Amino acid sequence: MRKRIFAANWKMNHGPTAAAGFIHQFRSRWVKGDAEVAFFPSALSFAAVRAAAGDPSPFKLGVQNVYAADRGAFTGENSAPMAKDAGADYVLVGHSERRHVFGETDADCAAKCAIVERSGLTPLLCVGETLQQRQKGETSSIVTRQLREGLAKLDQIEATTSVIAYEPVWAIGTGQNATPQDAAETHAVLRRALRDLIGDRAAEVSILYGGSVTPANAAQILAASDVDGVLVGGASLEVESWLSICSA
Ligand code: PEP
Repeated sequence: MRKRIFAANWKMNHGPTAAAGFIHQFRSRWVKGDAEVAFFPSALSFAAVRAAAGDPSPFKLGVQNVYAADRGAFTGENSAPMAKDAGADYVLVGHSERRHVFGETDADCAAKCAIVERSGLTPLLCVGETLQQRQKGETSSIVTRQLREGLAKLDQIEATTSVIAYEPVWAIGTGQNATPQDAAETHAVLRRALRDLIGDRAAEVSILYGGSVTPANAAQILAASDVDGVLVGGASLEVESWLSICSA
């Protein structure tokens, strides 16, 4: 009943030429199955990715960030209505790099999720604890708070259509992935938190795992209970490794 999603977060990599080349190569070799494949290129590469994906696109497309206003004097920012107009389906919200490098708070995430939903897009809300928080035994309370506060401005229907990614901060870009058991435990915590918010509809929300997913560990992580897909940074930048993960 839940969608299985393979999401590629390219961060600040692949300009328009490289991004279009990647999509052409990936598309010519990828075998479409039931799972959804989504690309999050940089905003500057979005149009090139969309053109290379074709119309209709076999992939979902997303942007890595939006500002929480429809328009205005916010130099350098992009809005959710603009992302919709450009052809996006998803917006990443609360990625650990946004939280920890750019200082975004749970309140920022809540405002972004709201404007994303109201622009007809799906927020992919990322939550995850730091190593220090994990060592203090705070993983469950941190991810539960991030989930509740991030979805706080959504109604039940909107919350049901959102997607969640559990991304332990200590696992992102470090080569140190969570074990399938770690992922399953925290995904169960998130599913319970969703149930408190939206009751039985919690079963409809996809929860992805992200953090050093590679072709070597993807299948094991995807087999863990309550893991509905993966959000991948580094290993989504090469066609070969992304093809391998998407067929895991
Ligand atoms: C990410 O950026 O969301 C991510 C999970 O990165 P990596 O796969 O490189 O750890």
